[in-house]
Amino acid sequence: MKVLYVCTELYPLLKTGGLADVGAALPAALQAAGCHVRLLLPAFASIAAGVRADAPALRLPARAGPDVLRTLETPPMLVPGHVIESGQPVYLLDAPALYQRDGGPYQDAAGQEWSDNAARFALLGWAAAALGQGADPHWQPDVVHAHDWHAGLAPLYLKLLAGTGPVTPSVFTVHNLAFQGLFSASSCAALGVPESLFNIDGVEYHGLLSFMKAGLQFADAITTVSPRYAQEILTPEQGCGLDGALRARRERISGILNGVDYAIWNPATDPLLNAHFDGQCISGKARVKRDLQRLLGLEERPQALLFAAVTRLSEQKGLHLVPAMLPELVERGGQLAILGSGDPAIEGALREAMACHPGQAALRTGYDEALAHCIIAAADVILVPSRFEPCGLTQLYGLRYGTLPLVHAVGGLADTVTDCSLEAIDDGSASGFVFHDFSASGLLGAVRRAFALRRRPADWSAVQRHAMQQRFDWQQPAQAYRSLYQSLLGTALAHGSLVSS
Ligand code: ADP
Repeated sequence: MKVLYVCTELYPLLKTGGLADVGAALPAALQAAGCHVRLLLPAFASIAAGVRADAPALRLPARAGPDVLRTLETPPMLVPGHVIESGQPVYLLDAPALYQRDGGPYQDAAGQEWSDNAARFALLGWAAAALGQGADPHWQPDVVHAHDWHAGLAPLYLKLLAGTGPVTPSVFTVHNLAFQGLFSASSCAALGVPESLFNIDGVEYHGLLSFMKAGLQFADAITTVSPRYAQEILTPEQGCGLDGALRARRERISGILNGVDYAIWNPATDPLLNAHFDGQCISGKARVKRDLQRLLGLEERPQALLFAAVTRLSEQKGLHLVPAMLPELVERGGQLAILGSGDPAIEGALREAMACHPGQAALRTGYDEALAHCIIAAADVILVPSRFEPCGLTQLYGLRYGTLPLVHAVGGLADTVTDCSLEAIDDGSASGFVFHDFSASGLLGAVRRAFALRRRPADWSAVQRHAMQQRFDWQQPAQAYRSLYQSLLGTALAHGSLVSS
């Protein structure tokens, strides 16, 4: 089975969040499950630098679709190639005027959304649809799998390109419903989105064009990255205004939990650590902790319960709850280390709160992969107090590194962490600390329970050992995606609408 995997980030070439980790690991796992996967990515500079072309570039059909197909001085091209490091086959969507810029993939260096994002990501959707409908005579996918709003127009364009002919089936995966790709209604014309689709049953979202909604309305199957999140987005609280549209398509929605690439996230072999450890021999963790305390200017106290977070600093991630509970955390003898980047207001509040506790709390800003590994390995507790969390990866990394997750009971966090209730400690299923009330006092309650468990060293060690034994590898999710693709192909065949390839 041939699968075109359409996304915008790929670890280690370009990463702003979990999407990149998934983009690296899931295609490889699908490959191992017997699928032939090719990625389609915009040729951002860092991605292009890690890819070697291995076949002549292809033109995109330009009679319809977004205006940029016809207006760019150098027409966009599809470049078949492979990722140099992994050998993963890819298509690069090469349009230097759109993708080769200083700054981030979605925002400029000042943090402003690129003003032409509608055209930049519509082109990605168009390229996906073109490949889906046979733009490469040597390789046509059986399924197009589009990820997040950036690829949201792919399912719609697939249907437009096919006209009355057979359509290649599509899967749309929501990694985060809160980022929707909203643009003015007037951009429809320039993107080749028919006016007839600009309504509540189509791509309209409160008078705006929504790329996310296009993916949700036109994909043949919708997935989210955890089963709990698949349920949550059907509710007004978590549906980001799309819960009605989602409820109307609920039969097509399923949740498939993300996995972890344990070749990268393994404390026994992690090359970014100075010392190694595993469930049998944990002593190396103390050395990593001491080195981190030294690096961050924290007092070198082996017994200090070290809490940490590695995160985007955004309202979603709940870090604004931290300043209110920090004094008690420190008073109880704990320490706090945060690595984060994002919202300057949250950063400012954290900085101010942490400055009151020199030697006990440290904030590092910016994006730092090596420090992220050291912090997750060194800490005793990893904080993930998200307001909502589609899956979350750092709690899964924490489990593997014996760093007990402390999480809000939402989405993938609720699906993957079992609270240290007395019953759960007793039956051996406890793996972390879960709080239900999204408030500073709710968070503080879980922090107190972490201190309480720490005072029972045998229980702490048992929970830690159990946490480290948990496995969330990609094998099972890959099988679930494969079954989903197969069910779509079965349906397409039943309707006589599958392109033979
Ligand atoms: P999201 O994708 O919503 O940001 P996830 O938990 O799914 O959250 O994935 C976050 C990924 O990004 C993890 O691999 C985490 O280690 C990494 N990460 C987040 N912030 C930073 C940072 N400041 N420096 C390094 N890695 C980070």
